[in-house]
Amino acid sequence: MQKLLDTLVRLSGLRDREKMNFALVQLSLETELWPVTAARLVRAVGQPGQQRWFTLARHEAGATEPACDRSWVDEAALPRLAEFPHREAAMVTETMVRTGSGPFTSVFPIDTHSLVCSLLELVSDEPLSAPVQAQIESVVWIYQNLQGLMDYGEKDALTELLNRKSFDSAFHRAAVEQQKGADLAHPDRRTNHTAGQFWLAVLDIDHFKRVNDNFGHLIGDEVLLLMARLMRISFRSHDLLYRFGGEEFVVLMRCADESDAAIALERFRVNAENHAFPQVGTITVSIGFAPLRPDDTPGSAFDRADKAVYYAKANGRNQVCDYRALVASGFLQEAQDTVDDIDFF
Ligand code: GH3
Ligand code: MG
Ligand code: MG
Repeated sequence: MQKLLDTLVRLSGLRDREKMNFALVQLSLETELWPVTAARLVRAVGQPGQQRWFTLARHEAGATEPACDRSWVDEAALPRLAEFPHREAAMVTETMVRTGSGPFTSVFPIDTHSLVCSLLELVSDEPLSAPVQAQIESVVWIYQNLQGLMDYGEKDALTELLNRKSFDSAFHRAAVEQQKGADLAHPDRRTNHTAGQFWLAVLDIDHFKRVNDNFGHLIGDEVLLLMARLMRISFRSHDLLYRFGGEEFVVLMRCADESDAAIALERFRVNAENHAFPQVGTITVSIGFAPLRPDDTPGSAFDRADKAVYYAKANGRNQVCDYRALVASGFLQEAQDTVDDIDFF
């Protein structure tokens, strides 16, 4: 019991989601209170009807440390929900589901009421006893509460997209990943280079002030909420979606090349334009995007994408503008501070 308490103390001190996921599967295996031989923390990702299983953390007896799916994995390569009917059953019934006849697989649902449903799947040689099940359910609750606290700090209250505050650390993680991919000698090079590079896009609703002026703030807020939903539908589950403030959104995504980034952004732009917003009707969005550079700060990358938005606004709105293409064709000047970021004073 002391060991369980100690690991729970460690779990509650973590502020990094991946570390917390790893700690949960480690705890399931290593407290030795539970006769578990393998633990997997999985999440249903993707659009309703086409969801697939993404593994947030997996660990098994004999392994030195947990592992997980790559965050930029091609969703089409992940298993479909129906390939794991017991997981689907746990998600739908919101209760623990057990399958198999030795080894046994017990699936505990986590947070079935939020936008994302996760499951803790434990493999054991014997069926888990009722007291063990109760302990696991309590640990799952603690994990769920800790996730909720992290959401509270990282998510925008209205849209549930990530907030501005959480952007910098994600940006730095992306920059490190990108650098690894660029480094030929790095052992991750083979898996990274196909994943392409990171892009930052700024999305700004067109004439949003008019929505507030003509229909009131409440309807304005509803438009923001619906816009966030359209973003979730339009982008992939591993793209990071932010509300930066007001009616401005940011997407940090990893794409094979420029045209992939442009296609994803254009898909969202068209989805927004075609959506019938209750009372308001048509709303459009102007979008600018730029690749992350090796020497970038969050501010310098944002500024380039924002310049492309500014260009879109000045040239008819409701369009996706590529910063690099605008500079190459002479429509935008390369900003001095992003080329030479040295402070002389
Ligand atoms: P543009 O096409 O040039 O972007 O025009 P715009 O009207 O969208 O841009 P502007 O920056 O002039 O106005 C943004 C408006 O967004 C002003 C403010 O009233 C509104 N706004 C900011 N935050 C919120 C919010 O949380 N809820 C609502 N309803 N409105 C907001
Ligand atoms: Mg606007
Ligand atoms: Mg704006």
